[in-house]
Amino acid sequence: MALDLAKAAKEKGIKYFLISFVDMFGVTRAKLVPARAIAQMQNDGAGFAGFAAWLDMTPAHPDMFGIPDPNSLIVLPWKREVAWLASDLWMDGKPVESSPRIMLKRQIEAAAKRGYRMKTGVECEYFLINQDGTALSDARDTQTKPCYDQSALMRRYDIIAAICDSMIELGWNPYQNDHEDANGQFEMNWDYNDALLTADRHVFFKYMTKTIAENHGMRATFMPKPFADLTGNGCHCHVSIWDKAGKKNLFHGRDDMGLSALAYGFLGGVMHSAEALTAFFNPTVNSYKRINAPRTVSGATWAPNTITYGGNNRTHMVRIPDPGRIEFRLMDGAANPYLMPAGLLAAGLDGIANKRDPGKRLDIDMYAEGHKARGAKKLPLNLLDALRHMEKNKVLRETMGKDSIDSYVKLRMQEWHSFKRHLSQWERDHTLDC
Ligand SMILES: [Mg+2]
Repeated sequence: MALDLAKAAKEKGIKYFLISFVDMFGVTRAKLVPARAIAQMQNDGAGFAGFAAWLDMTPAHPDMFGIPDPNSLIVLPWKREVAWLASDLWMDGKPVESSPRIMLKRQIEAAAKRGYRMKTGVECEYFLINQDGTALSDARDTQTKPCYDQSALMRRYDIIAAICDSMIELGWNPYQNDHEDANGQFEMNWDYNDALLTADRHVFFKYMTKTIAENHGMRATFMPKPFADLTGNGCHCHVSIWDKAGKKNLFHGRDDMGLSALAYGFLGGVMHSAEALTAFFNPTVNSYKRINAPRTVSGATWAPNTITYGGNNRTHMVRIPDPGRIEFRLMDGAANPYLMPAGLLAAGLDGIANKRDPGKRLDIDMYAEGHKARGAKKLPLNLLDALRHMEKNKVLRETMGKDSIDSYVKLRMQEWHSFKRHLSQWERDHTLDC
């Protein structure tokens, strides 16, 4: 029996509901619905014009309806009269197959059919900057190696604690907060869970962090590489596949890394499609300044450049930190919270089904000894490169739907062309006297 939202409004004192959805570019959009109308909205959904979002629709398309998922209900800890809901998009009585939350649900269904259930945890890094976005919010945060800097962390205690207290109240089980490797950069970790729940929380975490930062006169950014010389914002994703009941971790195995053959099949699938998946994991023009990047002020980018995996070694695209778990380190702060796990699961299931071989584990420092990884595929160098890989990737086209992949590539390609029209100072500096 689904939660009755009108009843919940009365019990919890909710005056308004944000019925939200995330489009292909990861933008969270919403209608603010008064509690008096929520009973009808729970049945019929909130109406939106699809063309107004990044969903590859036209102004001629009929109304699109966001039908809220009552299980996703979150009362805003900083404004308790408002509650947030994730919704699924419907049009003409059918789900919109090319909407990110539905795309993830389809992969979860495909996994369930084979008796699998994916659990994920995400590490969302972000910078606290000034309101106009030009500089860090903390002018004293200048150490060359600022990671875990206690003083810089505590100068932002009010914001960090407000976000962490909110996660405690929401039952997410947060367990640590730190200053990350770039000046002005932070990360907060909460428990892993089922992929859809983590994805909804990922969406809400970004909204919450931005809002609480704004309420403190600052701005939080998840931009992949906001400052050229500093480490960028990653969004590492930890993955395990469980049995259908969610009781037994099927990635657990007896090899020296504690992984099963199924885990290596999943990993092989992701590595097989990694160049194409980059278009989901690193979806903006700016993303490619984080990966394949030169050394940062702190000494390392912590981001990959090659499609390789290692043991507990942070210089590879994939790290195996503990038995029964794989960490994918390619993703950045712009990754769509739904398309990221959807792409992982689609490629991973293909890898399991086709027993794709991830090749040998490389126990080398990829930053210093990358030349030793002979034959390893390089990551795309820019968004265009990634989109061309995605466009022709058979696995993703077959498993995620060719229409959805075509729509995504089309919209991102438009963004690439908009970037290409921009004339930069670098070009003038290097070409005026040609
Ligand atoms: Mg980190």
